[in-house]
Amino acid sequence: MTTHPTPASLLDLEVVGPSGVVAAEAALANLLGTTHDVLLVQAEAIVALEATAKGLGRPGVRALNVVTGPYGALFGRWLAATGAAVTTLEVPFHRAVTAADVAAVLASDRFDLVALVHAEAATGSANPLDEIAPLVVANGALLVVDAVASIGGHPVTPDEWGADVVVIGAQKALAGPAGVSALSISPRAWAAMAGNPGAPRESILSLLDLRDGWLRSDRAALLGTPSSLETTALNQALARVEQEGLGSVISRHRAAAAASRAGLRQLGLTPWIADDHAAATVVTTFAGTGSIADLVTAARAAGARFVTAAPGVLASTTGRINHTGRAADLDTVLDELRALGDTLGRPTDPVTEAARRTWAATI
Ligand SMILES: *Cc1c(COP(=O)(O)O)cnc(C)c1O
Repeated sequence: MTTHPTPASLLDLEVVGPSGVVAAEAALANLLGTTHDVLLVQAEAIVALEATAKGLGRPGVRALNVVTGPYGALFGRWLAATGAAVTTLEVPFHRAVTAADVAAVLASDRFDLVALVHAEAATGSANPLDEIAPLVVANGALLVVDAVASIGGHPVTPDEWGADVVVIGAQKALAGPAGVSALSISPRAWAAMAGNPGAPRESILSLLDLRDGWLRSDRAALLGTPSSLETTALNQALARVEQEGLGSVISRHRAAAAASRAGLRQLGLTPWIADDHAAATVVTTFAGTGSIADLVTAARAAGARFVTAAPGVLASTTGRINHTGRAADLDTVLDELRALGDTLGRPTDPVTEAARRTWAATI
């Protein structure tokens, strides 16, 4: 994996003005292939997600919130806090939700809004948005997608999905900064927010303030002081992705996931998510027979840099290889597998051989 030299200084950078933000929003719209508004948020993605929930949620809104990991659960709590009536569709975290799961709930009730996470960085599952989106569109509900962990690892296509809000960040597969994020917002979603008397105003969570004070202005002045460091880094990350090609970035992640899974199997570790629910994603989770915490600690002592325990309640049972961003790279995956193999006392040649073969067949 390429490492980057420490820059001489991060101080005294040129201040990012309106044109720098316009450039970032245009590059993000291009990345998403969307004609909807794309809005840069001067905060990490979790803020953009909360702003979406608080902007769209209100008493009388009937929301279907799909929970396949911790972020979806949090989104449901934000919606509920607005007084929205939230129906939760939760599946065990070792699998994705299926289109059939969603269809069954949609058939049973009428919804104004359906929210779900595309790919889960915590568990390594990926929900089949291409199959689920048409169901939501046919139902007439607003579709809200958290694509923070999928952008750059999977095709994220708001317009093809008919998605009303898609939240993204650059800190996962795009290998960019974590301190700014973005959303695409459809005219329908704007109308729903504008018609919501409880939607935040004069608040860090106010998307409507950003619409009126920035997007619908002549964009000659920013609403507040931009985070120059983060916005500059975002523009650099997007330029790097554009140079490599988004398709290539996605292929690297898909190949890293497949190679990791092949190597883990060869090591006697079980990929935690079934093949057809994992697809390409930014992490590969695995379960073993012994203590995962001990295995992770030992693997890191043996040189692993991207092997960690899964977060939260999964930590004791599930480890992961975070082959995300620049780490979605064959040499990095091989290094991680070798460290795990050394730790487990397994011969590593068959492991790296399986991973190499799978990488070559997938990329
Ligand atoms: C990482 C992530 C987020 C939030 O990112 P922050 O950097 O913590 O704001 C949201 N949703 C998903 C699915 C993620 O993986």
